[in-house]
Amino acid sequence: MNSPIEKGVQQGVRQYLNFINGEFVAARSGKTFENRSPVDGRPIGTVAEAGAPEVDAAVAAARAAMVGPWGTMDIAKRSELLYAVADEINRRFDDFLQAEVADTGKPVSLASHLDIPRGAANFKIFADVVKNVPTESFQMATPDGKGALNYAIRIPKGVVGVICPWNLPLLLMTWKVGPALACGNAVIVKPSEETPATATLLGGVMNKVGIPQGVYNVIHGFGPGSAGELLTRHDGVDALTFTGETATGAAIMKAAADGIRDVSFELGGKNAGVVFADCDFDAAIDGIGRAVFANCGQVCLGTERVYVERPIFDKFVAALKTRAEGLKPGRPEDKATGLGPLISKEHQQKVLSYYQLAVKEGAKVITGGGVPKMTGDLANGAWIEPTIWTGLAETSRTMKEEIFGPCCHVTPFDTEDEVIRMANDTKYGLATTIWTTNLSRAHRVSAAIRVGITWVNSWFLRDLRTPFGGSKQSGIGREGGVHSLEFYTELRNVCVKL
Ligand code: NAD
Repeated sequence: MNSPIEKGVQQGVRQYLNFINGEFVAARSGKTFENRSPVDGRPIGTVAEAGAPEVDAAVAAARAAMVGPWGTMDIAKRSELLYAVADEINRRFDDFLQAEVADTGKPVSLASHLDIPRGAANFKIFADVVKNVPTESFQMATPDGKGALNYAIRIPKGVVGVICPWNLPLLLMTWKVGPALACGNAVIVKPSEETPATATLLGGVMNKVGIPQGVYNVIHGFGPGSAGELLTRHDGVDALTFTGETATGAAIMKAAADGIRDVSFELGGKNAGVVFADCDFDAAIDGIGRAVFANCGQVCLGTERVYVERPIFDKFVAALKTRAEGLKPGRPEDKATGLGPLISKEHQQKVLSYYQLAVKEGAKVITGGGVPKMTGDLANGAWIEPTIWTGLAETSRTMKEEIFGPCCHVTPFDTEDEVIRMANDTKYGLATTIWTTNLSRAHRVSAAIRVGITWVNSWFLRDLRTPFGGSKQSGIGREGGVHSLEFYTELRNVCVKL
């Protein structure tokens, strides 16, 4: 049977319902909110806002699933089902693509290459990981000479609340739901209010492939005073995994303190890119260009502070300017489009306020700094110009606060020590990208910059088996490969006296 969203798409009107216990349901309160296209500002659907009854129902469904049949299913069968989820997403690739592009406005070329294939792959990779991870065992001497045997077993955490951002909706959601389910948990997903579509579509996929009712639930709504806060405060939720802003992480951590529940956080960043004069110049421009402007700068791993060794500084700034000015804003489906809009008018106002602040703080605007002239219905979209600044003090707010737009400041440096100090002078510690052909320097600088993820001569090159997460205020915990198991399972020791 088609879900409401599927029917909606056919009729050109979208309706996003909550997905609870295998069924699409409206809110008992009747409350809905509007979803608008960031491309042209037109309403694209209504979303049912979950209240306490829906959150209670989702938690009850998830807890029931943990009793059975999900809770008693063996790993091989679970993995088989997760493979089927990935295959079904790929079979319905165009539906997911259309839904993600409608919500975010991102170019089809990007979403078809990154968001949807990676969103599907997350189910397969973790289905494989859980099948191949051993647990430890220790033999122990005892006074009677007979000994004892210890062995560890991994058990699921239980019901996991998954709270997601809007920048890579399907990809970042399945990055958590994939391992959570592979480890045998049930989940309640709270997608961003800006991007309700793909999480809802995934409900239909779960039903189609035979994931038992209650294993995957979706509740829609906002954060404070709405579905997000209700979920984080619910005592039937055993653990919370969250991707979003650092300030939101702090609020969720406070909620999780009641009941001493575990958290895994992937938070904000103010990432530094470091370019040495001995780099492969064209590769560095390409890499930093992507790190600054991809997804209209709305990537947590993106670079907003670029440090360039003085001998190539002017040439670098000029080349990055050419790159920025070559990015044409436009409709997602247009092949010439190099830059989508920001996620919303609200976010556009936030980014613009930083563009104004940068000038007030003394920045020289190399390019951009405002809103591009768009014609026709596109004039109502959340467009923004790719922007480059120089000349700011390292202590300025523009250099300290995450903007989350297609912009960067470029600073010259003279020595390795100096650039390491500047790169580390931030409360964040998510990612860095270093460009050099000097092997020893690459290793030295990688070890010295305090972040969770370092790329050398690359950016956003992700092997999903590797640890992913932030240092300092950019996160708590690591997910990816076996590291996801640390959060989504609990290790128990069994001691057997022989
Ligand atoms: P956000 O923190 O505003 O919202 C994220 C989610 O949290 C949304 O679903 C929102 O409804 C919910 N929420 C908000 N307040 C809440 C509360 N008090 N209780 C429960 N839920 C609440 O973030 P965003 O604007 O959607 O995303 C952008 C941010 O995410 C940026 O800071 C970016 O750096 C960060 N991010 C980090 C990573 C990473 O891997 N480290 C990845 C992507 C995005």
